[in-house]
Amino acid sequence: MAKDLISVIVPCYNEEEALSLFYKEINKVSKEFTTVDLEFIFVNDGSKDKTLEEIKKLAKKDKRVKYISFSRNFGKEAAMMAGLEKSKGDYVTLMDADLQDPPSLLPEMYRIIKEEDYDQVGTRRVNRKGEPPIRSFFARCFYKLINKMSKVEMVDGARDYRLMSRQVVDAIVSLQEYNRYSKGLFSFVGFKTKWLEYENIQRVAGETKWSFWKLFIYAIEGIVAFTTVPLSIAAFLGILICFIAFIFIIVIIIKTLAFGDPVGGWPSMVCILLFVSGIQLLCMGIIGQYLAKTYLETKKRPVYIIKETEEDLNKDKNKA
Ligand code: UDP
Ligand code: MG
Repeated sequence: MAKDLISVIVPCYNEEEALSLFYKEINKVSKEFTTVDLEFIFVNDGSKDKTLEEIKKLAKKDKRVKYISFSRNFGKEAAMMAGLEKSKGDYVTLMDADLQDPPSLLPEMYRIIKEEDYDQVGTRRVNRKGEPPIRSFFARCFYKLINKMSKVEMVDGARDYRLMSRQVVDAIVSLQEYNRYSKGLFSFVGFKTKWLEYENIQRVAGETKWSFWKLFIYAIEGIVAFTTVPLSIAAFLGILICFIAFIFIIVIIIKTLAFGDPVGGWPSMVCILLFVSGIQLLCMGIIGQYLAKTYLETKKRPVYIIKETEEDLNKDKNKA
C-alpha cells in the first residue's frame, strides 16, 4: 500500500533566523516518522529579510521542499490559504516557522487521525506563559465575548497548528471569502476535532509579528466575520433609549401640569444629548464595520498574489 502523504505548510514572514532551525527539527521528525511521506510548502509572505533565499537553499537540496513567494506581505491568513490550495497531501498540517508549534507532535496527531476516527487534530496551549498579562487578559475576554455572540465555537488558546484530512482541507479551500478568520473557519466547517494540549513555548529566533494593536484589529475582524450580534445590540440600544425617552416625556408632562416650570434642567439636557449622540455614532460605527467588510468582499480581490514558486527555480536550472 502506498504511504500517506502529509503536506506541511509553513507561513514565513521575516523568519531567516528561524528557518534553518525549523528545517533541522522537522527533518529530524521525518527521519523517525517513516510510515508517511512528507512535502513541505513554505509560503514566503513578502519577507523583507533573507527568508526567500533561505527557502530556496532548502528547495535546492531537498526535493520535498516546495515554496510560494508572495508579491508583498498579505498576512498569515493569506499565506495559510495559499499553502492549503497548493497542498497535495492526504493529510495537511499548518506549522509556524518559529518552532512554537512543536513538529514532534506530528506523529501523535497522525496516529490519532488514523486510529481514532477523527477528521482534524487541533492543538491548544493550556497556558499563556511568557505573554504580557494584559494581553492574556484581553485575549480571555475576547474568547468569552465571541463565544457568547457566535454560533461557531472559538476555542481559547487554540493554535493554527493542526492536522487535517483532505476532506477538511477541501472544505476550507471551498470557503472563498476575502476576509479570512481561520480560527472561525476551522470550526465552521465542522468535522470531528480532537484537541491536544501543550504548554506555551517561546519562539526560537526572531520576534513576534503581532503588536497589541494588530491583535485588537484581528479580534474585531473575528467578531465581524462570525457574528451579526453587534448589529442586534445596536437595534436593541435604539429601542431601549426610545423607551426611556418615552417615560421621560410622560414624567415631564405630568410634572409641568402639576408644578409648572417646564424649562429647568439644562445640564441634564446636555448630558442626555451627548449620551444619545454618542450611542448613535457607536451604532453607525458598528454598521460601518459590516458595510466595510461587505464592500471589500464585493470587490472580489484575490487573497494573495504569487510572485514565484519552486517551479521557477527548476525553470532557471533547466535554462542554465
Ligand atoms: N506570519 C506570516 N505573515 C505575517 C505574520 C506572520 O506568514 O504577516 C507567520 C510567521 O512567519 C510565523 C507565523 O505566521 O511562522 C506566526 O507568527 P508569529 O510567530 O509572529 O505569531 P505568534 O506566534 O507570536 O502568535
Ligand atoms: Mg510565533
